[in-house]
Amino acid sequence: MLRLAELAPGARTAHATGRATVTVKKYGAVSGREFVRAAVRAQDGRSRAALVTLRPAAYPHAEAWLDGLARCAPATADYRNPSASPESVRLLAEMTRTHANGVPRQSDGSVGWSVPGASARVWPDGRLTVRSEGGVELSARLEGAEWDSWGVAAAADVALRLLCAPEARHITRTSEPSAWYRPLDRGHVGGGRERKGNQSYDGSSTARCSCGWRGAYPSRLAALAMAAEHRKNSVVV
Ligand SMILES: [Zn+2]
Repeated sequence: MLRLAELAPGARTAHATGRATVTVKKYGAVSGREFVRAAVRAQDGRSRAALVTLRPAAYPHAEAWLDGLARCAPATADYRNPSASPESVRLLAEMTRTHANGVPRQSDGSVGWSVPGASARVWPDGRLTVRSEGGVELSARLEGAEWDSWGVAAAADVALRLLCAPEARHITRTSEPSAWYRPLDRGHVGGGRERKGNQSYDGSSTARCSCGWRGAYPSRLAALAMAAEHRKNSVVV
């Protein structure tokens, strides 16, 4: 159990995550201006893969945030900027309402998005910030070129799941069916239920939820119905 509030100014502690160990140090002797710095190691246990700054309001989430980062951290870290692109991170994150293209990039290269109760922003230099509407912030500086867009998106998902409003824990979406296609374009012949000229019809759709649930269905209507069913069955705590 990581008790950051009880840590004395200047004191250090280590936190075992089940992956690499996280080292923690408290700064700031003046009450109310204190903060904690945590270093999350890469899976090889050597180099630092993330530097985290935690203000007191974030202490209750610190353990889950650091554990989540340790799970997402790449095998090694080399102090270079992540190879992730902010636009791709935004598109790969599961905690999002829509995956529409055309995400606006700010002049500083960052991309942001929000879910009910919380918002995330990712910068090309590896900074990741997630804020709740209540002002709690979980942020990290992700280090190393091995942080790809999938890894950064997974880290953003961890923080968004911790800070979002309860209704955001089950944001579902369904994929657009690919519709009419030429089987030869996919490297096979036939297989579609219907035919138009030399084309086949693929109406299948995948339903996904921000909690990780997913299912594949023969039509988008079926996917929408199952997504609604999933939301109904998911107990909102
Ligand atoms: Zn769900």
